[in-house]
Parts: sequence; structure tokens; C-alpha cells
Amino acid sequence: MSVTQQQVLDSLSRIKSPRGVALTNANVLSAISASDGKVFFSINVDAPEARAWEPVRAAAEAAVRAIPGVTTVMVALTAERKPGSAPPPPPPSRGAPGVQPAHAHRPPQGGASPMSRQSEIPGVAAVIAVASGKGGVGKSTTALNLALGLRDLGLKVGLLDADIYGPSMPRLTGLREKPALNDERKMIPLRRFGLAIMSIGFLVEEETAMIWRGPMVMSAVTQMLRDVEWGTLDVLVVDMPPGTGDAQLTLAQNVPLKGAVIISTPQDLSLIDARRGLAMFRKVNVPVLGIVENMSYFQCPHCGTKSDIFGHGGARHEAEKLGVPFLGEIPLHMAIRATSDAGSPVVDSEPDGPHAAIYRAIAGQVRDRLKGVIAAA
Ligand code: ADP
Repeated sequence: MSVTQQQVLDSLSRIKSPRGVALTNANVLSAISASDGKVFFSINVDAPEARAWEPVRAAAEAAVRAIPGVTTVMVALTAERKPGSAPPPPPPSRGAPGVQPAHAHRPPQGGASPMSRQSEIPGVAAVIAVASGKGGVGKSTTALNLALGLRDLGLKVGLLDADIYGPSMPRLTGLREKPALNDERKMIPLRRFGLAIMSIGFLVEEETAMIWRGPMVMSAVTQMLRDVEWGTLDVLVVDMPPGTGDAQLTLAQNVPLKGAVIISTPQDLSLIDARRGLAMFRKVNVPVLGIVENMSYFQCPHCGTKSDIFGHGGARHEAEKLGVPFLGEIPLHMAIRATSDAGSPVVDSEPDGPHAAIYRAIAGQVRDRLKGVIAAA
């Protein structure tokens, strides 16, 4: 049974807003995406009002969930601060999903570690980010193969595709199902290759045009982080949106990260971008676990000859200069692209091959740098 936007609007029209009018007349609703039983929209209010609106967000989600045929609902509450207005007080607990004031990307204050404002995810020992200064450098491919490398080391691993501008996990894993809900109405991550996987791509159609404003990004990612039954995990790998803008900085600051891995290609430009990524994580006191050079050299799929077509080694050199660990070089190879794009990542589909060994070696270094954290759990 398909659910229409009108059905969603009808159910929302019965919810009262703090402005005294029905939610549908309060001029706060984004466009409603309703397809295939999956409903997604946001409620956009000014930051000082955000707390008063959280019960409305919850009521809206419950009302839509009650419509026959609805399988998944995600209602994001986004709060924007008007230029010149005073920032609202921080939310009482980082555990409350749904509200992320736009001021959240201000730098940490008073020297306190940002960790203190981020509650951990119950059952998850370490959340790590895989980030890149720009798109197209192979961040998602590396995130998935790194997750699989960590799995091969005997760890329990989850993967959150937070690249909401271009979620690639449906393509990279071949997963297309919608996550089911548990008794507490939390989404159950999909399972593939022994990983628990969540992506906004499982919730909204790839073609659905979504305009993500800064605060919406945080709100959507918070829900995928906290309204999901991750279970017990040693490591949750977060595939970050590419770039180092406000949305990324907000994520870096508000997701309880134990570390970040930066993916770069050897081209100079991307190294400059990688340096920005490094600066971003340092600004919010997230330890950089290291830099990976992807598409480091070209390896001929026929004869195996290596060619340094991009001037290979730049990332290693850069990492040394910046005092950041260098985690390894991944060649530009047909097998990596073909397996990725076919939904069967190389570490899983060619476990005895040379590429899997490279990813596992990188995973080993990441595991070693997280050892205290994982062991403590
Ligand atoms: P990003 O997440 O940085 O946008 P993706 O992981 O989606 O990048 O990769 C972009 C493209 O590059 C994909 O087609 C992917 O298969 C390919 N790719 C990534 N890493 C490699 C590699 N080491 N060798 C060959 N192709 C790669």
C-alpha cells in the first residue's frame, strides 16, 4: 500500500503546534518525501524555540507511523539561529535525538573536551570517522573495506553512511531493503558481510531531491546514530560527508568520535584538502588516527606493473611533515572499482588477494591506535 503526501499532511493537521495553530499551518514543514512506505520530512524552527518543538517532532513521527502502509518515518527537527540573535543554551543531553541547533558548530569553549558534550552510544566502544577534504577520492570505498578489514581482525563492526549528500552504501553493498523497527521503535541496521550497516540511502530514494541545510545534516545523522539499534560493537565506522564545511565541522564536533582517518589522493589539490580535514578534526580535539593515500599508484590489471601517474608518495610525505601517522597506500586498480561498484567489496570478495591485504594492514594500524578504547570496552 503506498502512502501519499496528502495522507501525511492529514495526519499532521491533527497535531497542535506551540504556535497555537495546527502543525500544517505553522509554516515550519519542509517538503514531504513519501514513497514506498518511507516518509521523510523536517520541521524547521528558530533555535530558541527548538526545545518546545521536540514533543511536536515526536508526536508527528508517531502520527505518521500510525498511517497504514508506513514502514519507516524520519522526522528531523532543525533549528536555525537568526543572524544576530543570542545562541540558545545547549541541549540538556546529547542523547536526545532530533534537535541540533545551528550554533552547534561553534568551537569548543572553556578548554573542555568536546567529548564531555557528547554522550557515548550505548554498546559501541569506539566511533571513528572516515573523512576526505573533497568528494571522489574513494572515501566510501575505503570506509567499507576498512570496516571489513577490522571485521577480519575479529572485531564487531558497524558502518554508518553519514554522507547524506550522496549515500553510496546501497551501491557499495547491494543493500536496498528498508530497515525494520524493533519494539522500542528503533531502526534495526541492515546486515551484510558481517557488518551492521545504516545509510540514509536505505530510507529515501536515491533520486529523491533532498536539499540539506546545515542543521538538517546533523539532525539526520544524529537519528541514524542514536535511533538505531547498533547492538554491541567494537568499532562503528562513520563515512562522513566529503569536505570541511560547517556541516562536517558540526558532525566532527557532535558525534562522539574516538578518532578520524583521512583519505587523500596523491594530487596536490587533494592534499591541500586533506590538510583542511586534519585542521578541522584538530580544532574539535578529535585525534587523527592517520592518513590513507588512495589511488596512490596505478597497477595494471594485466601485468601488475606499477606506474606512479599521480606522483605517488605525496600523502606519506605530507603526513610526516604534519606529524600524523601514515596508514598506507591503496593502488588505483580495476578490481577495487569493479568489486565496489558491483556491491561486493574487494576485502570480502577477494579475501586472499593483494588489495584485501592492504586494507587489512591499514585496519590493523587503526585497531592498534584504538586499542585502549576497544580493550576498555
Ligand atoms: P567518495 O566516497 O570519496 O566520493 P567513492 O568511494 O564513491 O568516493 O569512489 C569513487 C569512485 O572511485 C568509485 O567508482 C570507486 O569504485 C572508485 N575507487 C575508489 N577507490 C579506488 C581504487 N583504489 N581503485 C580504483 N577505483 C577506486
